[in-house]
Amino acid sequence: MIKQFLQKVFRKRERVTDASNGLSSAQTITASNHQINHQLISQAALKTCDGLHRAGFQAYIVGGAVRDLLLNHPPKDFDIATDATPEQVHKVFRRSRIIGRRFRLVHVMWGQETIEVSTFRGHHQTEGDAETNDSGRIIRDNVFGSIEEDAARRDFTANALYYDPKQQIVLDFHKGVADVRAKTLRMIGDPTTRYQEDPVRMLRAVRLSAKLGLRIDTKTQAPIRKLTALLEDVPPSRLFDEMLKLFLSGHAIESINALRAQQLHHGLLPLLDVVLEQPLGERFVMLALKNTDERILAGKSSNPSFLFATLLWHEVLVAWQALQKRGEHVIPALHMAMNEIIDKQAETMAIHNRYTATMKEIWAMQPRFEQRSGKRPYALLTHPRYRAGYDFLLLRCASGELPADLGTWWTNFADAGTEARTQMLMPDTDIKKRKRRPLKKKPVVDTGVV
Ligand code: ATP
Ligand code: MG
Repeated sequence: MIKQFLQKVFRKRERVTDASNGLSSAQTITASNHQINHQLISQAALKTCDGLHRAGFQAYIVGGAVRDLLLNHPPKDFDIATDATPEQVHKVFRRSRIIGRRFRLVHVMWGQETIEVSTFRGHHQTEGDAETNDSGRIIRDNVFGSIEEDAARRDFTANALYYDPKQQIVLDFHKGVADVRAKTLRMIGDPTTRYQEDPVRMLRAVRLSAKLGLRIDTKTQAPIRKLTALLEDVPPSRLFDEMLKLFLSGHAIESINALRAQQLHHGLLPLLDVVLEQPLGERFVMLALKNTDERILAGKSSNPSFLFATLLWHEVLVAWQALQKRGEHVIPALHMAMNEIIDKQAETMAIHNRYTATMKEIWAMQPRFEQRSGKRPYALLTHPRYRAGYDFLLLRCASGELPADLGTWWTNFADAGTEARTQMLMPDTDIKKRKRRPLKKKPVVDTGVV
């Protein structure tokens, strides 16, 4: 009897130990099953895992990269999760630095590429280590934990997969591989609580499902509609980063449509709401997004300043016209309108200064495209942002805001030789250029000096 009892207790202990080292609940998927193509993995990520393994630590490629590898998509970036602390990671790699305040991470640099390494994070709810605000949003959590705890903190099952490149196995704690295969995006845990902890997860659901063609699971989808207001509470800089990812995902149009269908766009780009309600504005924004999607999918870069300049242009136009009606001169009115709209946008989602400066340059160039006489077109061609300004002009023409031949004129003018350019110039009608009246002769003043 006593022997049986002791055996029972010890067996229970063993199981508890298993669970706390984190691997008991993981399913291990081997190479023949996951069929991950190693060619799609960056050398920098492989070298980072290798360095950590050699130093005696665990190291896994984690998150979106594993999900993308399973879908045979080349991952955009690689994150590594490890049981080494940030200081230990930093010691392993000479070219690395510890960053972050909300949670400390290490950036390991390999030439142009940077790999983000994070230490397994622990549970916050049970240990009371996370600070939350009144609506349940987590504002700080800095606890290290086991790999299993780390997996439970991630948002979707498809994002909680760990790939060990040495053994070529995937560790799956939340049936993420099955969900990826079924093209389903499913929240880990109770969706309402997880959105309350971090409302940005609602935007991530929309973005990832549009980008990867995944269906949002019904229970994951259901609470979104009544929780949209939580986004108002998110710091504007985080919203901005998320919107940037969304717009530059190569699937901006699907994402915007999904955001609108779920009423998630209110409060994000309130100005965009207004724009999309006017046919000309909607046409312009959709053309701009289509352009951006095509560039990204063709592997070209896309400038966020250009994109945000297009998203807010129709609001600038309305404000510009109103100011002119109130008697302001054309150019000062445009500058006032630009500042007004950027300030209004900043109330909900501030656009970084490094982008607003370029946005303003693109906008400020627009009236100059309408001046096609004298030396001015030549000067505009040498503007450092001419190309962006010109692309913006073409969008305005394509959306019907300006006559198409204005865009064609500039395309031809830029391509033409010296003589052809001179012939293309329009007659000068500017009043400032009219001949000055000859100055009256100064009266000769007798100074009395002989
Ligand atoms: P992308 O392809 O756009 O990079 P991603 O899923 O990799 O998508 P990242 O922002 O790079 O997105 O995040 C990396 C991983 O960190 C995610 O896969 C997920 O596991 C985790 N993660 C990111 N944001 C959150 C969040 N708000 N809540 C919980 N886990 C998150
Ligand atoms: Mg990622």
